[in-house]
Amino acid sequence: EILQTHKLLDRCEKALAERYTVHKLHEAADKEALIKSVAGKIRAVAGGNVDGALMDKLPKLEIIANFGVGYDSIDTKAAKQRNIRVTNTPNVLNDAVAELTLGLMIGLARRIPQGDQFVRQGKWPKQSFPLLTELNGKTVGILGLGRIGKEIATRCQAMKMRVVYHGRSRQHDEPYIFYDKLIDMARDSDWLVIIAPGGKGTEKIVSRQVLEALGPEGFIVNVARGTLIDEAAMLELLQSKKLGGAALDVFEKEPQVPEGFFALDNVVLSPHQGSATHQTRNKMGDLVVANIVAHFAGEPLLSAVV
Ligand code: NDP
Repeated sequence: EILQTHKLLDRCEKALAERYTVHKLHEAADKEALIKSVAGKIRAVAGGNVDGALMDKLPKLEIIANFGVGYDSIDTKAAKQRNIRVTNTPNVLNDAVAELTLGLMIGLARRIPQGDQFVRQGKWPKQSFPLLTELNGKTVGILGLGRIGKEIATRCQAMKMRVVYHGRSRQHDEPYIFYDKLIDMARDSDWLVIIAPGGKGTEKIVSRQVLEALGPEGFIVNVARGTLIDEAAMLELLQSKKLGGAALDVFEKEPQVPEGFFALDNVVLSPHQGSATHQTRNKMGDLVVANIVAHFAGEPLLSAVV
């Protein structure tokens, strides 16, 4: 029997229901009562949002199959201590997230959403749209040159941008210039693209100082997690034009977005939709199911993180 912690795609839910008895925690009116009634039978969790306390309530739990490559909503340390496996959904979403990133960059540089509003609101015959900027010839600093970061880098090169990166370690096989200090990369970049994991290790790593180093001509793009940026400082710097612009797919307390952003025309906002296409979400769902199936067949997991 398995516990599902949030809504999954129909195809994924169907595949799970064909194989297992599924209990849907997110649909339960009384979540504690549901957990109590099935606790001794649950051997797998499909979805995220699992802390040590929930693990302790499920003594037979063997595996948590997260829907998403970022698994910051699962306490992996607690899982390891309890001998519980954790899987995620890497690679299948790289292209979708990289495409959205480039879309956000062009959208911000050329203010495409604002242009759309300008036309729809009948302003075009009365005033001219401002002159803006281009991506080509600019330097983009990528924070997190991982699976998705590399796909973003390839696409930025196609836009004739110069690519540099920061991470905890230099990747010797990569052709791009490495910065061991994020603040130095921000100072030297026109664009800062955030695509490193969330969680404690990266909390507010894009600090006020980093944002100030990016400066009034600099653009920030966050397609990782809201927790990586000091959001309050970013809003303040955008309002005072000490930061050039921001394209944001993720937020600290999403789906709640600080209203201050709504009044800014140097910002493009997106509802955490990096992987939100039919083709990618289906592949992610298939991987969730494949990991659970592999586990109970005693086969190697396809994408284990614990
Ligand atoms: P990877 O693990 O492949 O890459 C992560 C990169 O981040 C690595 O290059 C790593 O380099 C770097 N990194 C990790 N920790 C730190 C740190 N403390 N400081 C600096 N750099 C660090 O992950 P993916 O590319 O597959 O995914 C990245 C993230 O993107 C996910 O964790 C997820 O949160 C987010 N995401 C967002 C989506 C959306 O819808 N907006 C969709 C999919 C993913 P090094 O080890 O050298 O530090």
